[in-house]
Amino acid sequence: MTTTPPDTSTALVAAEVFGPTVQGEGPSCGRRAAFIRLGGCNLACTWCDTPYTWDARRFDLRAELTRTPVTDLAARALEGAPGLVVITGGEPLLHQHQPGWTALLHLLTAGGAEIEIETNGTIAPAPITATAATRFNVSPKLPHAGDTEPARIRPAQLAALNATGRAAFKFVCRMPADVDQVAAYTAAWGVPAARVWVMPEGTTTAALNAHLAAIANPAIKAGFNITTRLHVHAWGDERGR
Ligand code: SF4
Repeated sequence: MTTTPPDTSTALVAAEVFGPTVQGEGPSCGRRAAFIRLGGCNLACTWCDTPYTWDARRFDLRAELTRTPVTDLAARALEGAPGLVVITGGEPLLHQHQPGWTALLHLLTAGGAEIEIETNGTIAPAPITATAATRFNVSPKLPHAGDTEPARIRPAQLAALNATGRAAFKFVCRMPADVDQVAAYTAAWGVPAARVWVMPEGTTTAALNAHLAAIANPAIKAGFNITTRLHVHAWGDERGR
């Protein structure tokens, strides 16, 4: 069987590419990595730390987002041989049916990178996405994000991500009741506790520390893993780190 090579003359709408830095969150926390941040999101979380990728009311998206050749995205991400490339957003899976998506995955894989894809869990991975991703960092949103439950919780899509066997489920939490909600959700979805990471909400060290202190004990008691946001501790809310 022959396969058609991906069209590397394609482009994707991106906000930024940066690295090497570290993956600051989840199972790969602390690991050297580069990031490709694509534009657009299908949610509108109140505490979103990347609203410049989707919120046209607060940002000039024509200035924030650029249709960028995938060869440029891949070349910049692979500079400095980060080993791991994280495709994030926004919601990057919004792009997965564009030719540029396939080409980008091909270029990163050919460049020797492992690929983590960060998603809010509302979109099922296409076969090409499921094949190329080393890991999905799935971050379903709790009520405090402000999105409606039908918008933020999509059981069939979460099940598809879970079925890849390569999904880590990461939840932004502020208080013990949030951890209880995580336990209820993940039990209903059949996600083992060992594949759950609970993370404090915050874009300052003070906020992260306060929320972490509130959620650490209940998270451990529930059998979950804990992650911080290492990049915030190192560089605050600085963009592109
Ligand atoms: S899903 Fe992520 S990128 Fe989209 S609004 Fe929520 S926090 Fe922001």
